Amino acid sequence: MKKLAVLGSTGSIGTQTLEIVRANPDDFKVTALSANKSVDLLLEQAKEFRPDIVCIYDEKKALENECRFKGISRVVCGMDGLLECAADNDADMVVCALVGMIGVRPVIEAIKAGKNIALANKESLVTAGHIIIPLAKEKNVSILPVDSEHSAIFQSLNGEKRSQVSKLILTASGGPFRGKKRAELQNIKVEDALKHPNWSMGKKITIDSATMVNKGLEILEAAWLFNIDIDDIQVVVQPQSVIHSMVEYVDGAVIAQLGTPDMKLPIQYAMYYPDRVFLAGERLDFYKLGHIEFEKPDTDTFEGISLAVSAGKIGGSMPTVYNAANEYAVARFLNHKSGFLDITETIKDAMSSHKVIDNPDVDTIISVEQEIYERIG
Ligand code: MG
Repeated sequence: MKKLAVLGSTGSIGTQTLEIVRANPDDFKVTALSANKSVDLLLEQAKEFRPDIVCIYDEKKALENECRFKGISRVVCGMDGLLECAADNDADMVVCALVGMIGVRPVIEAIKAGKNIALANKESLVTAGHIIIPLAKEKNVSILPVDSEHSAIFQSLNGEKRSQVSKLILTASGGPFRGKKRAELQNIKVEDALKHPNWSMGKKITIDSATMVNKGLEILEAAWLFNIDIDDIQVVVQPQSVIHSMVEYVDGAVIAQLGTPDMKLPIQYAMYYPDRVFLAGERLDFYKLGHIEFEKPDTDTFEGISLAVSAGKIGGSMPTVYNAANEYAVARFLNHKSGFLDITETIKDAMSSHKVIDNPDVDTIISVEQEIYERIG
């Protein structure tokens, strides 16, 4: 039986992780759960899965609600509480489904404690990949990708020699505004941007998909996870979201992973790796599907990709600037305080005025994030 800590258990990936646990009660035991503010759902989860500890990140909410968890789970709060859930308990694997840079410290502490990571939090690798990847190697810890594209690449690399890979091909749905030009994006509303054509995901990542910043973050994440040059990662738009990503080898062979767009598959694959177990759900029906389309991404309209590539090539603290400016701009957009096109404009401005710090440590990464928030706030 595998013991799991699920960080961000009330979000989209967190709840789907627990659905997999629910379907396979003999294979997993939940030891820790964490949520930011969704206390009611967290309480329901605690009653069902009986973790030793739960973290309510919001300290005020934690104080107000602690008594409701009496006799069920011990309540901790804030970053210290989150780190306790990540590292200081007897989980074998930490599912990191936190949204944003808040995931950096918990991922690092979990690795230090020798726990395998099922990683859905791409921001931690984007900003601190240079710390996380060598640390995982040193601690002999596996980082198993939960992102569908990275899981697809991971699956397509199985049994092959890394030295024989020539490039990674990241597929993208193109988001809800595929085919639109800048002028048409001027007055996009939050509700429109939240309508993803294929995937059901959290709000932040859905907006990131619409700007293609998500694909930009995924390029940077893939470069760290698979130790590959950014120039050897190609993005291909595949609007049906059937091919989840591909690997091209030196002999020209391309190996892909296909499936219906269901996040439970990559989550479950990480949880059971290297095994595959039954997963209920729809199967691909190729007769019904008929065809699969491919397109080159429109990087002039959706600058999320090109800005990420340049942030990644500059390196140091620049990917943190890219990510922090995006987190801030997306929050503003979701609060109806700025327009859709302002998101990538904000990133561009933040990057152009940043003086790069090489090889930043965690404190520096966090302070760069703060600095960006203050500057653009
Ligand atoms: Mg993805």
